[in-house]
Parts: sequence; structure tokens; C-alpha cells
Amino acid sequence: MNGAVKRKERDGMNIRTMYDLDFRGKRVLIRVDYNVPMDNTGSITDDTRIRASVPTIRKVIDGGGRVILMSHLGRPDGVTESLRLKPAAVRLGELLGAPVESVEDCVGPIVAEKVGALVNGSCLLLENVRFYPEETANDPEFSRLLAASGDVYINDAFGSAHRTHASTEGITHHIGECTAGLLMQRELAYLSNAIETPRRPMVVILGGAKVSDKIGVTRRALELADTVIIGGGMAYTFLKSSGMAVGGSLVDHDSLAFASEVLDLASSGSCQVFLPTDHVISKSLETGVPTRVASDIPDGWMGLDIGPDSRMVFTMAIAAAGTVLWNGPMGVSEIPEFAEGTRHLANAVSDATEGGTVSIIGGGDTAAAVNKFDVGDRMSHVSTGGGASLELLEGRILPGVAALTSGQ
Ligand code: AMP
Repeated sequence: MNGAVKRKERDGMNIRTMYDLDFRGKRVLIRVDYNVPMDNTGSITDDTRIRASVPTIRKVIDGGGRVILMSHLGRPDGVTESLRLKPAAVRLGELLGAPVESVEDCVGPIVAEKVGALVNGSCLLLENVRFYPEETANDPEFSRLLAASGDVYINDAFGSAHRTHASTEGITHHIGECTAGLLMQRELAYLSNAIETPRRPMVVILGGAKVSDKIGVTRRALELADTVIIGGGMAYTFLKSSGMAVGGSLVDHDSLAFASEVLDLASSGSCQVFLPTDHVISKSLETGVPTRVASDIPDGWMGLDIGPDSRMVFTMAIAAAGTVLWNGPMGVSEIPEFAEGTRHLANAVSDATEGGTVSIIGGGDTAAAVNKFDVGDRMSHVSTGGGASLELLEGRILPGVAALTSGQ
């Protein structure tokens, strides 16, 4: 049995890995996720996703391959100047210590010319694939044109793996050799291990605003976890369904029946569900407004963060956890007055990690929050894909991953 096969078995995935391939002299087309936030001057404000792509790119460069990168950025309607990928090429060049060229298209003759001029170990970033509507339509002809730039395809865009798009799915039908990149592999390994063989007790923390986005993951969490902590705006739908007055707090009326079903299941099942018992409340959602800590929320007031008692109870559950999986902030963490609950839990999860807990942060707002509180580096894994990690936790198959396994 060769090393590559052993490694695949260890990772528990039936997909090819980069270790299976020889890159020397080959055009290696890598789908990365450079959907990075930029300010209105075009400066990248968070380069986490670019940094996360470097190990895969380096491996191809070191293996003598010619790297061609493709990504989407934002949701453009046709060619949009502010959504060009050139700033990402500049940043990647700084990280690699060698300039990365970019080209103002992702298919067609100017791309063919640039790709043809690449030498072993060099790197080119194609233009935003979403400038073409055919990308999100998963158009077969567009997929074929994209595929024309590569001999090998690597998908390292975990953040887009839940999309059935031309650059994540369609393309795999037009290139013989397709594999997962190192970031994709790491994301799948952490999340799959946490779901399939979690170190117990397993604590799932759910927060954020929208209950409707998290119905699937909440159901799954009740099956998988020993404890589910529900905080943030979504907690008020659960509290209201249990009969509590929540004032003007965020309530998703369409999800009230689901919330009450969850609470019924929790009272009869083996999984504990914790809801906040006190709250930081305010009459409006702005910086500098007066706030109070309360266990009841009067009319005209909103619950905007978990209160100190809730922080303490949640921290105790986290301290005892073998695995923590966290998706969604505990309050409006973008505003300092309502950020303390999230900051407190971020520190609790980071301390637990130091003591041996496996901690996984599910991307998006939660990843931004742990980075803001300077504990991102202390977590076991901070996912680069909010939506993709939620879908994986729900037990759904990610089309971008399934495409790498088909035909093998
Ligand atoms: P989501 O996209 O569903 O994960 O929600 C993330 C958003 O939830 C963040 O922008 C938070 O500001 C917001 N959020 C968290 N807690 C609350 C709350 N108590 N009331 C209103 N919004 C909240």
C-alpha cells in the first residue's frame, strides 16, 4: 500500500489528495476562495482566506507545477471594477515573496496566452469567475472553457464547496485529474471528525440572528451533542416559544413552532439545551446607548447580548467540554456595548482549547469575532466557510466535495 492511500484512509475521506499527484511541468488550476472583504479604496481588510490558500499553492510551486488560480469575489452583475481580483494577487505575491500576475478575464484568448507563457513554479490569478453569469448557472460550455487552462484541477475553496457552480462542480467533468487542496482537506477532516467521532462531552454553541438558517443544524446538534447552548438573537425565538416576554427582541415568528419542538425534545432527550437566563438590554441598537442587565425584557427594550449569569453557566459547560463547535455570536458583537458575551465565550473556548478541548469555529461572523478578540490562533480550527461548515454539520453533501469523488 503506498503512502498516499494510507493518508487517505487516515483522513477518512474517499477523495484524492494532493499527495497522489505529480505536478512537475503541469498547469495546475486551483479554485481558491478569495472572496475577501475590501474597503472602498480596494484594500483588503481581512486576508485570512488568502493566507489559508498559501500551503496548497506552495506545494504545487515546490513540486514544479504552474499555478493558475481562480476565485469569485462578491456578487457582481457583469464586469464590476470594484470586484476585480487584482488586489488579491498583490497580497498573495507579498505572502509568497514573489509577484503574482493577474489577468483581466478568466476564459478566452488572453487567458490562454498568459497561461501558455507560465514557467514551472510561477503563478497567475484569473479574473473573478462571477463576472460571467454562466459561473453560478454551472453552464457546461463555460465549465469547459475554464477547464481549458489546466491539466490538473485542485479545489481548495471550502467556503464555496456548498455551491454547484462551474468553477466548483462543472469543471470537474472536463479535467481528468481532480483533487482536494490542503485547506479543503483540513476543513473536512476537522469537521468530519467532530461530527463522526467527537471527544465528549460535545458542546455545540449556536448564535447569530437567523433561526431559519439554523433549523437543520439545530436538529442535528440535538442528535450529536451532549449540550447545545443557544444564544444571540436566535435565543429570543426559543425564549418566546417557552412563554417568556421578550419585549422588542428579535423573534422569527415563522420558527416559533420549531423552537418549541426543540425545547420539547430537549426536555425528553439526552441532550441538554441551555438558553440565556439574563440579558444585556437596550432601547436601541447603537453605540453609546444606555444598557441594563435584566432577566425579564420589558416592552420597548431588546435583548442584545447574553448577561453575566448566562456567561458563567455557558463557560462552565465549555470548560468541561471535549469538543466545542461554535457557530454564531452571542450578541451584537460588532457594537462594543453588546460584545462582552461573545468576547467572554471566545476566551472560555480558547482557555478550554489550551486544556485539550477540540474547538472548531464555524466561519463567518464567529470567525470574525474570535479574530477581533485575538483568540483565533488559539482555537483548534477556524473554518474559512460559514455556509459550507453549516451545511456539512447538517449532514448535507457538499457538491464541490462530491464532484471530487465521482468517477473514482
Ligand atoms: P447570523 O448571520 O444568523 O449568524 O447572524 C449574525 C448576526 O447576528 C450578527 O451580525 C449579530 O450582530 C447578530 N446578532 C447577534 N445577537 C443578536 C441579538 N441579540 N439581536 C439582534 N441581532 C443579533
